[in-house]
Amino acid sequence: MNDGLSQAEEIALIGAHDEGHAFGAVVPPIVQTSLFTFENYDEMVETYSGRKERFVYSRALNPTVRVFEEMLARMERAEDAVGFASGMAAISSSVITFVEPGDRIVAVRNVYPDAYRLFGTILKRMKVEVTYVDGLDLEAVDTALKGAKLFYMESPTSWEMEAHDVGALAAIARKHGAVSVIDNSWASPVFQQPITLGVDLVLHSASKYLGGHSDVVAGVVAGSKEMVARLRGEALSYLGGKLGPFDAWLLTRGLRTLSARMKAHEASALEIGRRLSARDDVTKVCHPGLKNHLPPGLSGTSGLFSFHLSEEVNIKTFCDHLELFKLGVSWGGHESLIVPGEVVLAQKAQPNSAHAFGMSPRSVRIHVGLEGTEALWRDLEAALAAAKN
Ligand SMILES: *Cc1c(COP(=O)(O)O)cnc(C)c1O
Repeated sequence: MNDGLSQAEEIALIGAHDEGHAFGAVVPPIVQTSLFTFENYDEMVETYSGRKERFVYSRALNPTVRVFEEMLARMERAEDAVGFASGMAAISSSVITFVEPGDRIVAVRNVYPDAYRLFGTILKRMKVEVTYVDGLDLEAVDTALKGAKLFYMESPTSWEMEAHDVGALAAIARKHGAVSVIDNSWASPVFQQPITLGVDLVLHSASKYLGGHSDVVAGVVAGSKEMVARLRGEALSYLGGKLGPFDAWLLTRGLRTLSARMKAHEASALEIGRRLSARDDVTKVCHPGLKNHLPPGLSGTSGLFSFHLSEEVNIKTFCDHLELFKLGVSWGGHESLIVPGEVVLAQKAQPNSAHAFGMSPRSVRIHVGLEGTEALWRDLEAALAAAKN
């Protein structure tokens, strides 16, 4: 396992700011403005004609948002990046920009549930067909990608945490001429840099680890200059799901500690995963770090995983007895969280990927936060003891 970003790279990230506007401030300012005025008529003409590049209107470009975009692009080893109002805005924009009616998309199974719902509703109405494949089965992926326009990946996948050989999947997509897109929210660029593995577009729910403090909902897409320009020019400008300056500022703050936080989440979650695996009342632990080896390209693991409880555990009592693990969706912040599978299965929203992919009502998903491994383990042990009949 490598250490993710080197120390020098982290220092470079901390130093990322717009010198001209920051008065030498170590933290970039929040440029909370909707528009930017021109010096004179000629400058306006130069800008509108495309001869000069400058800030005009914050829907398409804002200095604080730009600082975040440049930091993230550097971390993902991408030429450029574009921020969005949410992870879902990043997902929908990335997919819609590169498909047309009549096209077919291939997606790995067990993608983030709202991505699954986007594919089953809006994309379906746009006459874009989506087929699902097991991302661990390279032959099935190769067959499914024949004639497909776009390959939508997520690794590890949501809930089941299936970790794929992303480089191998990207190569198959390239062979078939399909645009490859990956949701890298779980691993973050600290543990997985899909651009270096041959993926075209890397997106994040920045609401998770990039922000890291559960105080912002945001998204971002990184890739080649050309593809990012198209996303900025079409999806960002016309669909309009832009990232705000204050949210972008919170994200730049989160990125500075990303590497340190990820290593702490990794260590704690691995230890808790191992201890859960050793228990009789835990029948299965879905954590890529507990396998013999990680797939190529994934150099570490994060704090989110799921496990199955035996019939002797009352899941409601277990959840209600936990004190440090709070019941709640999302993840990636300081706090530890739990989501019971049986509640997700009872969710009204349709289409429901939990049913489509056979999620077990005996499973729970936890996010291991930064409260400390021993305190979190005591919490889990006490709640399991209380939940036994
Ligand atoms: C939360 C999440 C999203 C959606 O992001 P939002 O910022 O909530 O819109 C996408 N992918 C994954 C893996 C997520 O966990």
